[in-house]
Amino acid sequence: MSRIAVIGGGIIGVATAYELAKLGEEVILFEKNYFGSGSTFRCATGIRAQFTDEANIRLMKYSIERWEKLGEELEAEIGFRHSGYLFLATSEEEVEAFKNNINLQNRFGVSTRLIEMDEAREIVPILNTEPFLAGAWNPMDGKANPFKTLFAYLAKAKELGVDAREHTEVIGVEREGDEVKAVKFRSNGKVESVKVDAVLNASNAWAPLINEMAGLKKDLIPITPYKHQLVKTEPLKEGQVEPLVCPPSWNDSYVIQDGEDGGIICGSGIEHEAKSLDDYEPTYNFLRGVLRYAVKIIPAIRHAHIVRQWAGFYAKTPDKNPAIGRLLDNFYIAAGFSGHGFMMAPAVAQAMAEFMTKGKSKVPLDWEWYDPYRFERGELRSSAFQIG
Ligand code: FAD
Repeated sequence: MSRIAVIGGGIIGVATAYELAKLGEEVILFEKNYFGSGSTFRCATGIRAQFTDEANIRLMKYSIERWEKLGEELEAEIGFRHSGYLFLATSEEEVEAFKNNINLQNRFGVSTRLIEMDEAREIVPILNTEPFLAGAWNPMDGKANPFKTLFAYLAKAKELGVDAREHTEVIGVEREGDEVKAVKFRSNGKVESVKVDAVLNASNAWAPLINEMAGLKKDLIPITPYKHQLVKTEPLKEGQVEPLVCPPSWNDSYVIQDGEDGGIICGSGIEHEAKSLDDYEPTYNFLRGVLRYAVKIIPAIRHAHIVRQWAGFYAKTPDKNPAIGRLLDNFYIAAGFSGHGFMMAPAVAQAMAEFMTKGKSKVPLDWEWYDPYRFERGELRSSAFQIG
């Protein structure tokens, strides 16, 4: 049995801690704030396999298969459902692009199809179909509750013996040659150190700082925090906007009904680089911008009260694909999820835990595609299809 430190208590760190414990490892999980406080509890709940490249499609097809059984495995209600994603085209060129994407997705077993607006209206009864020519519809995409999912993983991880420490900040990673030896941390003002056999950097937007602690170049994996915001309406009748609905040409704006309370979550690609890693201030500019699109998609939103607005980070790499793999002999990374970490977590956590303990994994994760050293080699992948 090895002692493994996981740095970062978001969905990736917590899920990987659980998977490592399942494989019999001794795990210490460090979270500097409270679990989920990074991007995870700020996310829009969406889960999709509708990507535009083989690596992300295959990974997400597998991840959705894990999502389907996750509640049962974790013995908890996590709010997962196949509510679908509906992308809407506003031009003939976009319809053609949808067809190409659908062909690619179908090739890897993802059941996306092109639909007409009559069918779109059956799926989303209050949709304004008038501006749209066609939809790309995958009923197997879905959503889940980020709070319940993280807490379910955490509870099971603790049951399996994970030493999960909140409000405990990692402040140093001791290294000898190409091996990390210990992790230094601060809790309640007290500084301590623990010897470890391996470390996973799962700190997403903060990952460059942890890499630097381990003596690596801070920009080895260039992860930039982009501020993304959401607004949410008061609850609407259940089943009005079950899928995530997005016309990509409208600045990647989207709406999705919260599976728990029925409020409509509205997002958009209105983004900017965060001023700092504490920059969570929502902006009026976003509120105005996102609602302009949201009411064009769902006119009824005009009559609903906005009850919440919040901000979080998309921790973006230059090609919007995460960095997943080994950085040193026993120092690993899974970070830079660029807006897709929640949906990818079940697959990535399993893959990472298997890779760290056995050197290989049965998850269809393309290690070369996500290779963390690709940026240093100047080998960018095609940009992952990101919305919002
Ligand atoms: P995080 O949740 O950010 O966790 C990293 C943790 O590391 C943080 O809690 C942080 O406090 C901790 N940490 C940092 N430094 C240290 C240290 N020194 N010591 C200890 N702990 C440390 N994704 C989807 O899949 N679907 C969506 O619909 C979706 N919508 C989104 C909408 C918005 C508005 C935003 C902001 C994001 C959205 N995302 C979505 C992205 C998703 O939230 C992230 O990709 C995902 O949560 C990343 O999880 P993580 O565990 O890698 O990172």
